Amino acid sequence: MGRMSLKERISKGLLLLDGAMGTQLFARGIEAGKCNDYLNIESGDTILDIHRAYLEAGSDAVLTNTFGANQYALGRHGLADKVAMINTAGAEIARRAAGEEKYVLGDIGPSGEFLEPLGKMKPEELKDAVCEQAKALLTGGVDGFIIETMMALDEAAIVIEAVKSVCGDLPVFASMAFDKRGDDFKTMMGVDVNAAVSKIVALGVDAVGFNCGTATLGEYVELAEKFVLAVRALSQVVCVFAEPNAGKPELVDDKAVYNVSTEDFAAAAEKIHSAGVTIIGGCCGTGPEHIEAVAGKLK
Ligand SMILES: [Zn+2]
Repeated sequence: MGRMSLKERISKGLLLLDGAMGTQLFARGIEAGKCNDYLNIESGDTILDIHRAYLEAGSDAVLTNTFGANQYALGRHGLADKVAMINTAGAEIARRAAGEEKYVLGDIGPSGEFLEPLGKMKPEELKDAVCEQAKALLTGGVDGFIIETMMALDEAAIVIEAVKSVCGDLPVFASMAFDKRGDDFKTMMGVDVNAAVSKIVALGVDAVGFNCGTATLGEYVELAEKFVLAVRALSQVVCVFAEPNAGKPELVDDKAVYNVSTEDFAAAAEKIHSAGVTIIGGCCGTGPEHIEAVAGKLK
């Protein structure tokens, strides 16, 4: 292996991630409402093509198409018994696109359930489900893990601990989804930036961040500044990462439409980078054209 480990690479400055998967699937004629994760089995070439588009646009790392490939989310599609197959295939496809030069992050999203006592999910069951997913991603050859769009801190903590229990030396990134509420940023479950950062960093992640949410580009810049301040107040050194949406969506015929230009997205990414965020990608509404614009400005 000619290149440095992902853990070493993130200490060397800017690492560009990819943008959204869903928008790209839609653009390639995949109907909405399908199980996107199962496309790793049904339509692997489409997923490979999307990873390649991002790498050509300038991404240094791509995320596996496994955001909803845990037994809870797959169970809603009747695919709870396909966790291992879908995740290993997802990692293999991303690895094929990235080769040995670029990096692959195994993508882990929320269960979509609530933990006890709010819901019925038991901590042990969630832990087992995450271990099952993470092991299958490891089998497929990922370089690290990215846990995204967390809303609840108790779930985030269990997921991070579960991934860390099986990932050996590989780096773990974890992010929550924040919305602007009044003067503050909070997740849907009411977690603020300081609470998220201190808890997630204490669990020993390599990068802590934010993704998705419903902020404007200006608000994502403000959130980045808050995040970096919160991390710098701690004694551990960890990277900060950001995957903003392509601005705040507007509802058109009940569909979320993202209207910001790639130039505006790249200008916001430059400010987010200047604030001290060293790992940058995009969430909903972003495509290879946004990553290309960011790469053009920051690389
Ligand atoms: Zn998103």
